[in-house]
Amino acid sequence: MATVIDTHMETNPWEAQAARFELAAQKLNLDKGFWKILSQPAREITVHIPVQMDDGRIELFTGYRVQHSMARGPAKGGIRYAPEVNLDEVRALAAWMTWKCAVVDIPFGGAKGGIICDPKTMSRGELERMTRRFTAELIEVIGPEKDVPAPDVNTNEQTMAWMMDTYSMHMRQTVTAVVTGKPIEIGGSRGRREATGRGVMLVTLQAVKKLGMTPENTRVVVQGFGNVGSHAALLMHEQGFKVTGIAEWNCGLHNAHGINIKELFAYKAKTGTIQGFTGAEAADQHELMISDCEVLVPAAMENVITTHNASQIKARIIAEGANGPTTVAADDILQEKGVFIIPDILANAGGVTVSYFEWVQDRQGYFWKEAHVNAELEAVMIDSFESVMHYAATHGVNNRIASYMLAIDRVASTIRTRGIYA
Ligand code: GLU
Repeated sequence: MATVIDTHMETNPWEAQAARFELAAQKLNLDKGFWKILSQPAREITVHIPVQMDDGRIELFTGYRVQHSMARGPAKGGIRYAPEVNLDEVRALAAWMTWKCAVVDIPFGGAKGGIICDPKTMSRGELERMTRRFTAELIEVIGPEKDVPAPDVNTNEQTMAWMMDTYSMHMRQTVTAVVTGKPIEIGGSRGRREATGRGVMLVTLQAVKKLGMTPENTRVVVQGFGNVGSHAALLMHEQGFKVTGIAEWNCGLHNAHGINIKELFAYKAKTGTIQGFTGAEAADQHELMISDCEVLVPAAMENVITTHNASQIKARIIAEGANGPTTVAADDILQEKGVFIIPDILANAGGVTVSYFEWVQDRQGYFWKEAHVNAELEAVMIDSFESVMHYAATHGVNNRIASYMLAIDRVASTIRTRGIYA
């Protein structure tokens, strides 16, 4: 019985977020009042969304938008569609957005949204109607100066196009800056689709240099081949890393000589899966997590590195492309083993950084070349990596706590300057 409770506690994302926040706040000697403010989301919204399904039946979906902080600017963060979505998860993801935006020093607060649904079983029309009604329910709380949604798990550029259009219809004018991660022809940014994966590649490159390794001698296993994992793998492959393993939720691939990710990309685009790709052998997805490699990139969901597998992990570097892939208990085990973690709020911040560039371009009505987006992103990622390293060294803490400290310090300083409105 005790194990059941422990497992639940280990994998509750809000508990995980809170545990890291407390530790970092303690180290910072954070004022108790600010501590209280930042340990709770500013606003939590639950909506029940009626949707007419294709067969004529009406279904009711539950959706959430949690705005954790708006101290540094409009709230910012993705929307996910999944059966497992729950309020604690959305809360945690919202807080992580606050910390992430502060780590890369962009002028946004943090938010997250989600709808409990199984998008794999829904038609395009059903998804569109659900997205539009969800957007309409949130009409007063989102907006370019209030809260700016973006894609996350199981949502994409098309979802953002529907949200932008619905919001614009209510405003009686086109408002591109209400969401980011849009298709390029309706105000999206060049480079946004690849941005999270590019950010993962850039910070991994920094870590590899710091540890005296070279990409050519570095084997990488990527868990998840969705938007983040696939682009991280492709860009790392292009940088000369040897991507030896790809683990998906239901299958895996291994090739000791390195997988040709360009070919795998084309194969997945054609077949919708990585299964059956002939440029690698089939491998067990759980075994891949603990297989021989220098870099492990969890790039799918929360809680994939836990007390069940942390002690068996062989990687020297973990670059967290996903949000919350490592549990608090697993962190302790990995620290003991000396694994160099590039924490989620730094490693996957490339996505929201280019979202910021998209918001800037939309508001200016002037669109950048892809090379400019990529150069600006590179500067932000390298700067942020160095700031976190500096914090870790000067405060004698691990990379994760260093990035929380840096973020909390920046958010608290903004609140201090703005003051509390009575
Ligand atoms: N959903 C992404 C994340 O977790 C992107 C958020 C955004 O671009 O606002 O960082």
